[in-house]
Amino acid sequence: MADACLFCRIVSGEIPAKIVRQDDRAIAFRDISPQAPTHVLVIPRRHVATLGEATDTGELGHLLRMAAEVAEQEGVATTGYRTVINTNGDGGQTVFHLHLHVLGGRALAWPPG
Ligand code: AMP
Ligand code: ZN
Repeated sequence: MADACLFCRIVSGEIPAKIVRQDDRAIAFRDISPQAPTHVLVIPRRHVATLGEATDTGELGHLLRMAAEVAEQEGVATTGYRTVINTNGDGGQTVFHLHLHVLGGRALAWPPG
């Protein structure tokens, strides 16, 4: 299953991505269809389908920390940004490899539609 996963193929380098930050556990790359001037996805290198299946709190904390580092790196940490995890159908999840969206560079509406 993980073999066919789009984001696993980005992790392996099979599919190119604009990587902005990475370490041994996670990578961050630009969303192919950006919804804000900064739109970066932070993902674990290992395949985890959804937030509900992510039981490793250390891994989750690491992903959140990388999201904050990406925001700093992108220059949106002070102006503000949003970190989003869509989960399953009603949450709007379309790629079933856990990812955090980091959105910034413009004022974001609340509540989300
Ligand atoms: P979600 O709807 O939360 O599952 O988000 C999936 C995101 O992945 C969307 O924002 C897509 O634009 C993005 N996406 C899909 N394919 C690629 C790709 N090849 N490279 C980068 N981002 C992608
Ligand atoms: Zn995967």
